[in-house]
Amino acid sequence: MSKQDRNNSINNNENLENKLKFKAKAHNFSKATVSKSKNGTVDILLSIIDHVSQAVYVTDLSGCIRWVNLSACRISGHDEKELIGANMRILKSDHQDREFYENFWNEIINFGYWEGEIWNRKKNGVVFLQWLNIYAIEDDSGNKKAFLALCTDLSEKENFLAALNRSSFYDNLTGLPNQAHLRKLILDVSERQINQDMKHYFVALNIDRFSYINMSYGYSFGDQLLIEIGKRISSKLRDKDNVFRLSSDLFILLFTDIPNVDTLINIVKRINDLISNPYFINDKQVSITASYGISLYPDDGQDYDALMQNAEIALQVAKDSGKNTIKFFSPTMNEKATKWIKLGHELKYALLNNEMRVYYQIQVENRTGIIKGAEALVRWKHDRFGILGPGEFIPYAELSGLIVPLGYWVIESIFMLIKDFKDRKLPTIKYSINLSSKQITERNLVDEILKLSHRYGIDHAQVVFEITESSAMENTELTISVFRRLRENGFTLAIDDFGTGYSSLSYLANFPVDVLKIDRSFISNIDKNDNQRRITTAILSMAETIGLRTVAEGVETIEEVEFLSDKKCDLLQGFYYSKPIEKEKFEELLLKKE
Ligand code: C2E
Ligand code: CA
Ligand code: CA
Repeated sequence: MSKQDRNNSINNNENLENKLKFKAKAHNFSKATVSKSKNGTVDILLSIIDHVSQAVYVTDLSGCIRWVNLSACRISGHDEKELIGANMRILKSDHQDREFYENFWNEIINFGYWEGEIWNRKKNGVVFLQWLNIYAIEDDSGNKKAFLALCTDLSEKENFLAALNRSSFYDNLTGLPNQAHLRKLILDVSERQINQDMKHYFVALNIDRFSYINMSYGYSFGDQLLIEIGKRISSKLRDKDNVFRLSSDLFILLFTDIPNVDTLINIVKRINDLISNPYFINDKQVSITASYGISLYPDDGQDYDALMQNAEIALQVAKDSGKNTIKFFSPTMNEKATKWIKLGHELKYALLNNEMRVYYQIQVENRTGIIKGAEALVRWKHDRFGILGPGEFIPYAELSGLIVPLGYWVIESIFMLIKDFKDRKLPTIKYSINLSSKQITERNLVDEILKLSHRYGIDHAQVVFEITESSAMENTELTISVFRRLRENGFTLAIDDFGTGYSSLSYLANFPVDVLKIDRSFISNIDKNDNQRRITTAILSMAETIGLRTVAEGVETIEEVEFLSDKKCDLLQGFYYSKPIEKEKFEELLLKKE
């Protein structure tokens, strides 16, 4: 939160503070001197100050306490005698480190002001949280003479709630106003029915490929980058405009009173230029691009949800058209995008509402025809649209980060099934689980998988994790380290959709992987296409040379089966054997074909 924001939001005691500053200045901090005043006004004021709920301290430049009010005694547990003449360190707890105090003093010395939360200690040893405002008091020539400290005890319920309220409208990381703030602002605008001719532009700004920055440089680097981006945007805004941070790398810019669209585009471009300049953080340099989706109040929506949804649709179109672009919402933006965004919002609740399903597609051993494995493929049983395939929601789940909880849900579902089948002595086969690149970048992925497998007593030899060739190529180093850990723990690793990326043989030889899944596009009609036959033959022999097992996907005809068997592809998967099916049918198939 910027100082300005914090000032606006919490300083409702401004008058009191001014009076105090004045008093401290005029009376050289001595209660005795003050009480000798002629007309008693000062006495009255001091008595008021004594009775405010905030603790008030006046100290000299070395921090030695010269004056306190009653609340200071009440809150700290020390009496006045103990406090006067003591150093402010009497209140110090061990909850802040040296760096904190260094910053604290730097700000007071340089700017004459500090405010923030601080843990202090009461006389009885109890550590408690305070909101502290400190001001340097200057004499007429501008020399610092003393400090005035106002402390609000946040451990007292009401104060705590007020502070909570304050923080609930601001983003902790960047200090920018947050979604709750934005919602409230839009509500205020619409409730006041502000001049309907006045347009407000609602600009959704999303950093392109932010997860890769996090992944390559670390999360704390990503955090600092977001803070910097927030600062740069704020520096370009007029007073009447605002920037909000809604989630990880999604910002909303709200512009008021802009004469026309061209002006808005110019402003957005200027902001874009500024945030595209390189960032230097921890001796590293990074540059970013961003995509923008814009909706207009009141034309495209009169409440937060409508404006947000339409800005997101425009943002999605901007991202789809190659990122680093600005798009305005228009009702003609294809229905697919609209449905997609709506689905995205519903997806948040789909897991909770038990609407997700895992389907199973068997994998059959070449020649014997025995079922050796099954791939888990997720479905969404939507109440209006029926069964939706992953193509309809996985891209949104990836964009929004929902893929992470969804991914864990799939993993846990498979582990539960493995345990269930083991308890019921059904055939033991391998289960393949798809991982998206977003899951690979998840900090605790391997630990979480291990926790789950422990919970269900899983034999890791029964579990295969698949990642597509293109995701693996995007994040080579990270994928290698995650795969290595999974493999050390006895899991099998597979490269999915192989052949669609640009992997080289040497690249694969260094990759901790056990299985290649040849993409469907090579298998389909293989008997009729020379080129496909040549490529598939080459992939199969290369895999054999470097010791990888192979699975062919999308096997649909007997001709394809015969060709692949002839070339010694290990496992075959496709509609020829079975489509992906529900657990009950899968169970039947497993028993029948045993
Ligand atoms: P994939 O991993 O390549 O899965 C194989 C897809 O090919 C499945 O589509 C399957 O239904 C389809 N398929 C299998 N055999 C045949 C065939 O003989 N002919 C044809 N035409 N198609 C066949 P599905 O189930 O729609 O899944 C699409 C993609 O969604 C998957 O591609 C996978 O990348 C992703 N996906 C599915 N479940 C999950 C999941 O739990 N997590 C993640 N991250 N991704 C998932
Ligand atoms: Ca797969
Ligand atoms: Ca595949």
